[in-house]
Amino acid sequence: MNLILFGPPGAGKGTQARYLVKKLNGFQISTGEMLRDEIQKDTEIGKKIIHDMDDGKFVNDEIVNNLIKKVIFDPQKKNKLIFDGYPRSLSQAQNLDILLDGSKQKIDFIFFLNVNKSTIIERIEKRKILEKRSDDDSNTILKRYETYMETTRPVLDFYSKNSNFIEIDGTLKIDQITAKIDSFINV
Ligand code: AMP
Repeated sequence: MNLILFGPPGAGKGTQARYLVKKLNGFQISTGEMLRDEIQKDTEIGKKIIHDMDDGKFVNDEIVNNLIKKVIFDPQKKNKLIFDGYPRSLSQAQNLDILLDGSKQKIDFIFFLNVNKSTIIERIEKRKILEKRSDDDSNTILKRYETYMETTRPVLDFYSKNSNFIEIDGTLKIDQITAKIDSFINV
């Protein structure tokens, strides 16, 4: 089973992705984590992206799409993909379709965790204390939210017509969201 967790920063995509990894014996495909890893290891990619990431801007599609391509064509991960934070733009969504076709895979469910702006800000303020992410400061949070509204939200139109698109109230408690997701994937 391949799943997409979609929603604004702070919607709880990572939390649900970690649950789903255990449940489905799957792989969390978090482009944010992959990019932070490049920065931590001080790779060539890491050097290129550090400023954009710290400013809450998108990393360019070519870099992100290349990272994703490797994962999708990894035979170990086939049909065990749990996307968290990808796709984030229309061109990434189109690229994902092409890569899935090319690897003979499909997305089973797209879960949209819908959360309002004030809840996001509150959650990310808390996460900053726990995870110490450099892009979780107040100004960057607002910038990331704006980028989401401008660039990522249009991806909703791309997916929302699909019969496997499921909207979930992301302000619910973690286990309530998990239960809703379970009700779709437990077949
Ligand atoms: P996240 O951990 O998903 O909140 O992502 C943290 C940051 O990584 C984002 O604010 C972007 O700078 C970058 N990033 C993560 N995923 C993507 C993506 N699919 N496309 C472009 N930039 C991304």
